[in-house]
Amino acid sequence: MEKKLITAIYPGSFDPITLGHLDILKRASTLFDKVIIAIAINSEKKPLFSKKTRLKMIKDVTSNIPNIEVDNFTGLLVDYAKNKNAEVIIRGIRALSDYEYEFNMALINRSLEESITTTFLVAHQNYTHLSSSLVREVAGLGGDVSNLVPKNVIEELKRKLDAND
Ligand code: ADP
Repeated sequence: MEKKLITAIYPGSFDPITLGHLDILKRASTLFDKVIIAIAINSEKKPLFSKKTRLKMIKDVTSNIPNIEVDNFTGLLVDYAKNKNAEVIIRGIRALSDYEYEFNMALINRSLEESITTTFLVAHQNYTHLSSSLVREVAGLGGDVSNLVPKNVIEELKRKLDAND
């Protein structure tokens, strides 16, 4: 019997991508045949980084992982997932507080589209405190974020902060 290939979507704002996101992504790439990391474009949120820069940062740090694709989407996640023939949504869980929100989202998404299954991957213990908003805040105040984000993100953060000077 031919093996069925499974595509998973890892959605998020990734404003910017952190080492916590990257850890989840690497783990997911060993579990699924293809992983699409998809930036959710939400017109109501004003991100620090443009869609283009976020895509570029993610492409740079994932270029050595062959089964990862980088994309963006607007609208309903389940519609996007269906369009991509994906059956799995991946979300990272850092703490119980994440779980409550994520549990509700998973239920809503399942009620919208029964065929798509949400999977939770547990954050690496080094990154359970880590969020993109923390990175933006610390970097904005001139703090060192080198243990929190990939190298190319540090460069983009510097460029952004210099431009705002
Ligand atoms: P969103 O706005 O959708 O929460 P994020 O970019 O903040 O987008 O997060 C995307 C996904 O990655 C979410 O499932 C989130 O819980 C997870 N995540 C965020 N930070 C980490 C981390 N440090 N470790 C593991 N997972 C994380």
